[in-house]
Amino acid sequence: MTGHEVKGWCPGALRPMMSGDGLVVRVRPFGGRLRRAQADGIASLAAAHGNGFLDVSSRGNIQIRGVSEARYSALIEGLSAMGLIDPTPEVETRRNILVCPFWKPEDETEVLAAMLTDALAADDAPDLPSKFGFAIDTCDAPVLQDASADIRLEYSATGDLILVADGMKTGRPVSTKTAATAAIELAKWFMAKANGHSRMKHLIASGLEPAGASIPRQSEIFTPKPGYSETGALVGMAFGQIRVETLSTLAKHGAIRLTPWRMFLIEGATDLSDVDGVITDPSDPLLRISACTGSPACPQALNETRSTGRTLAKHIGAQQSLHISGCTKGCAHPADAPITIVAESGGYALIRDGNAGDVPDYSGLSTADLKDHV
Ligand code: SF4
Repeated sequence: MTGHEVKGWCPGALRPMMSGDGLVVRVRPFGGRLRRAQADGIASLAAAHGNGFLDVSSRGNIQIRGVSEARYSALIEGLSAMGLIDPTPEVETRRNILVCPFWKPEDETEVLAAMLTDALAADDAPDLPSKFGFAIDTCDAPVLQDASADIRLEYSATGDLILVADGMKTGRPVSTKTAATAAIELAKWFMAKANGHSRMKHLIASGLEPAGASIPRQSEIFTPKPGYSETGALVGMAFGQIRVETLSTLAKHGAIRLTPWRMFLIEGATDLSDVDGVITDPSDPLLRISACTGSPACPQALNETRSTGRTLAKHIGAQQSLHISGCTKGCAHPADAPITIVAESGGYALIRDGNAGDVPDYSGLSTADLKDHV
């Protein structure tokens, strides 16, 4: 190991998390985009130093799994050589920025992402709670309203660029030039008022509001689906996991934009139907199944999750969704789901309209039993 800390919280590349199958090294691509050489380079590094699989997180990060402590330094050096590593763990943690993936070269999304990245790396940037994040949602229409973020930049229905404190229905007008500075000011306002809250929406719900938020937000919620657009191809991955060979193949088709939906947007791609390991059919049931790593990779898991998910995919209805969790923590889908299956020692429990921590409706089920319940 280098002098970097290994901790079980707030994981990043510079603060890897120990899991059942080794270190998890989370890479946060700058501007939410990997150039083709970077994507191919991550695939090569993950093949050499990890277990051959990558996980895509709901924060638009890529996780290299199964890294031994002996391999960690070489992996970080390789990532650093490709411009994928922040100067310090603190800057890496603060640079928690989601970027709408459908941006076009002529719009201001790339510029705003770069300006906010620089502002969060400045010496006077505030230290923020570990999950506190930003969303630059400035494509044609907002698409990140359902994604976790505390401070948002988006357009109003009348085309004004607005800065939004998450939890509010209105935003404050800003310009491209002032947006990053105003976002940092809002983050400082949060830290000054937080009083124990770690997320903006909870502070707003307590009755406090920043000044100047006079312009209504757009309220239509975006539902992502694999498919092709003028920007490129949006493709899904079962359980947000991808093999290194698949990432390398995708990199041959175009640069890769990360999303919070466990999907990649491959710039300029028009036909990826023959790429193994990605989902291009919006009706594929695997898109409607969330499953954490499960055993053996997670030390907390009481049973495996993803092969059960693949088995059950053939049995769920056309609109049905499912969450399979290796324990009651429910990492892959903390919210309620119509059906949640939780691993138990030697079997599974099932909860209807609840989450992994709720009291089960059934327990002691085998995989064969589960087919009758979904
Ligand atoms: S839900 Fe439990 S088993 Fe699954 S990844 Fe989280 S801690 Fe591990």
